[in-house]
Amino acid sequence: MHLKEVAIIGAGPGGIAAAIQLKRYGMEPLLLEKSHIGGLLVNANLVENYPGFPGGIPGADLVKLFESHLGEIGMPVHFEEVVRLDWQESFIIETRDTKFHSRIAVVASGTKPRRFTDIEIPPEATERVFYEVYPIAGVADKRIAIVGAGDAAFDYALNLARRNEVTILNRGQKKRCLPLLWERAERSPRISYREDTSIAAIKGSRDGLVLDIKSPAGKWELSADYVIFAIGRVRQLDYFSERLTKMASELEERGLLYFVGDVRNDIYRQSSIAVGDGVHVAMKIYRRSQCKF
Ligand SMILES: Cc1cc2nc3c(=O)[nH]c(=O)nc-3n(C[C@H](O)[C@H](O)[C@H](O)COP(=O)(O)OP(=O)(O)OC[C@H]3O[C@@H](n4cnc5c(N)ncnc54)[C@H](O)[C@@H]3O)c2cc1C
Repeated sequence: MHLKEVAIIGAGPGGIAAAIQLKRYGMEPLLLEKSHIGGLLVNANLVENYPGFPGGIPGADLVKLFESHLGEIGMPVHFEEVVRLDWQESFIIETRDTKFHSRIAVVASGTKPRRFTDIEIPPEATERVFYEVYPIAGVADKRIAIVGAGDAAFDYALNLARRNEVTILNRGQKKRCLPLLWERAERSPRISYREDTSIAAIKGSRDGLVLDIKSPAGKWELSADYVIFAIGRVRQLDYFSERLTKMASELEERGLLYFVGDVRNDIYRQSSIAVGDGVHVAMKIYRRSQCKF
């Protein structure tokens, strides 16, 4: 059995920062990623609060810089999904094809979308239904419905409205986003906003979707090519074994298990925080390895 010193699960901003800092110490962490480098950040329309980018930078461009940084320092990313993480004197990291072992695990797997369960989405509609913007980031001249009223919903709308017609559907009456996102959406001629709306049915065909909408004013239909649900996210720890879930606090105390970024930060989910967490955890790991605390 080949035992790695550190395995990092997730190559979003948090996992990447941890990997870069560990590499600086001469450590060679195993960085596992199930999908793409950059995690959730790839969806961000314009990142305006990450120091060093006056005027902001699109999330996808910042991710490209992260990717170059990893390349430059020779930090490989293993594109494999961790399907089970267990602990038995060391961590056992199972992907579909491989079993890895590590002494320390850094969990940087972020969040997963809260699924829309109000109604059943028929199979013929599912390939037009999304929970993030990046799968359709390149589309043009489409009609897109976005369900939600938080930062993500408005950020997705601003992103897609560069080339498409967007309708934001808010089931309540309150917008829960940064005022500046709302102001920008209001100024966009390609974004309409409807509140007090709920989806009663979704019908799919080869040509698109029809959403049956209920509102106090009555029922109406909205035709769309795509719908994106931006109705919240929850931490992504599906792959934890039962034993690990029970032992997590003890392993954290022993300095063997660390949580980084959105997976631990409740509502305080920002790239800069995830990056700070990643560097912080890497420093702790190194310090412990030197001082044997
Ligand atoms: C629309 C939008 C706009 C945003 N705008 C900003 C902004 O302007 N400024 C800002 O600072 N932040 C912004 N954010 C938030 C920012 O994207 C997140 O805070 C940040 O990406 C969190 O980083 P993370 O590494 O903790 O998690 P994530 O970015 O979620 O990365 C987690 C990674 O883990 C991987 N993973 C999950 N499970 C597994 C598994 N089992 N095996 C292997 N890999 C796995 C995922 O594929 C993912 O790549 C925005 C987010 C959204 C959605």
